[in-house]
Amino acid sequence: MKYIGAHVSAQGGVENAPLNAHAIGANAFALFTKNQRQWVAKPLTPESIAAFREHCERLGFQPFQILPHDSYLINLGHPGKEELQKSREAFLDEMRRCELLGLDRLNFHPGSHLNQISVAASLALVAESINGALDQTKGVIAVIENTAGQGSNLGHTFEQIREIIDQVEDKSRVGVCIDTCHSYSAGYDLKTFEGAAAVFAEFDRIIGFEFLKGMHLNETKKELGSKVDRHDVLENGLLGMEVFRFIMNDPRFDGIPLILETPDETRWAGEIRLLRSLVG
Ligand SMILES: [Zn+2]
Ligand SMILES: [Zn+2]
Repeated sequence: MKYIGAHVSAQGGVENAPLNAHAIGANAFALFTKNQRQWVAKPLTPESIAAFREHCERLGFQPFQILPHDSYLINLGHPGKEELQKSREAFLDEMRRCELLGLDRLNFHPGSHLNQISVAASLALVAESINGALDQTKGVIAVIENTAGQGSNLGHTFEQIREIIDQVEDKSRVGVCIDTCHSYSAGYDLKTFEGAAAVFAEFDRIIGFEFLKGMHLNETKKELGSKVDRHDVLENGLLGMEVFRFIMNDPRFDGIPLILETPDETRWAGEIRLLRSLVG
């Protein structure tokens, strides 16, 4: 079964996210559990938590259909001691919010070395950050997203993600989210059906499908290997539809949230229908 949705708004409270997802015909969704551009947020209220759980249950969203995303400010591989600590505290708070909401995974970008330490040293800090957060929480999987590799961002190759996973102690609580736009910008040519097959074979060889806990289905405005992260709406970017046809017809993408982060939210309902129409 394919679970398809979008990164919907949680404005007015997290409990609105499942309502917004249902309204566009989604059977999966992503959300921010706090304002993604601020370090500190008010704790979730018991009322908000109860309403979120009630809405999810009534509308048929189980934890494995939901992919919360953490704040963009967090850098778990930060070379600065104080900044790293601040990021780790914020990440722990994000994990705890997921726990309270009954969610089982949290999607995040691995981090940046900021050209101050080596890639390997920064990846080791990311792994250490994950280990610390997992020690202090229960039941939530830390889901590393692949990046376009803009600036000094880590995680644009499958090898780098594998290097993090290798250093995570509890392998049952680390996962991966692959973003189609980021992959293409990072240099993975998944534009054709055959290209997608080859890229995901490489993914399976280096990381393994058992770690795949979500996908971001985005078109891209930027060329192969550009290392620039610019999402586009479906049927409008450089990728075309073959990679999405590949994903929709491959059972290895069953049972996980497949999330649109495309820029025009008025098109999401249509994009979800379009993706479903590619099956078969
Ligand atoms: Zn993404
Ligand atoms: Zn992106």
